[in-house]
Amino acid sequence: MSAPTIGRFAPSPTGPLHFGSLITALASFLDARQRGGQWLVRIEDIDPPREVPGASDLILKQLDDHGLCWDANVLYQSSRLDSYRDSVEQLLSRGLVYYCQCNRQRLNELAGVYDGHCRDLQLDNRGHSARLRIDAGAANISFSDQIMGHYKQSLGPCVGDYVIQRRDQLFSYQLAVVLDDEYQGISHIMRGADLLDSTPRQIYLQQCLGYQQPIYAHVPLALNAEGQKLSKQNLATGLQQGMESQNLFQALQWLQQEPPKELARQSVEVLLGWATEHWSLEPLAKNPVNAAVPDHY
Ligand SMILES: [Zn+2]
Repeated sequence: MSAPTIGRFAPSPTGPLHFGSLITALASFLDARQRGGQWLVRIEDIDPPREVPGASDLILKQLDDHGLCWDANVLYQSSRLDSYRDSVEQLLSRGLVYYCQCNRQRLNELAGVYDGHCRDLQLDNRGHSARLRIDAGAANISFSDQIMGHYKQSLGPCVGDYVIQRRDQLFSYQLAVVLDDEYQGISHIMRGADLLDSTPRQIYLQQCLGYQQPIYAHVPLALNAEGQKLSKQNLATGLQQGMESQNLFQALQWLQQEPPKELARQSVEVLLGWATEHWSLEPLAKNPVNAAVPDHY
């Protein structure tokens, strides 16, 4: 018997849900539910300077209003800092992590690919970032994405040793996401395609820690009228209360699920029932293109 499916939605509390984040939440929800699995919610609140007070509660209310009910308690990453710290220590003691003192100017000159400058300097953690060592040869990562197909990346030349704890002591997204997906037993990760190119870094870290690799599906991005990714950074409009059925119907259309017109005026329960029964990744996998959202979003 195969292990049960556990999917998840993991927003950062930087603002309310917008149409783009609803698409990802809905897709991961339907995928988990159709497999008869659980769907969990995790709030990625480990970057306080970027967070907006009240956003976590608002996001949870919006999910609830859209009928996207999660199983088990919401996991807040801010409650997991001891585990992150322990993992950094463990990797450090195995010689897989070292501290880096390079300043912003030097890193900018490297244009995104770290050159290993501090590898053998034996620095301590004071004011320094912690980097995961990418061993040459061991880091040609490839995987099969359920929507995007075969994807590969050589971490050495593409990224280099990368930061898992920042100089301000905050833990990196890459570290926290890998530890929490393992902690929550996530078997299926469905999220936005903007995270596709960070997946090899996460797979490499899973391998370093002896974790099982989840199954990935990266959903194309929802774009605004200017062709930019719909995001809190470019001021995407939050979803309006009272429009839940319409939002779900349009999200299903965007996800190429072709909901029948008569569903448009139904309750969220009826909509989600239809959508769970008919959910298919096939249309997205055949045509995985970023697409504009309806005008009023
Ligand atoms: Zn350095």
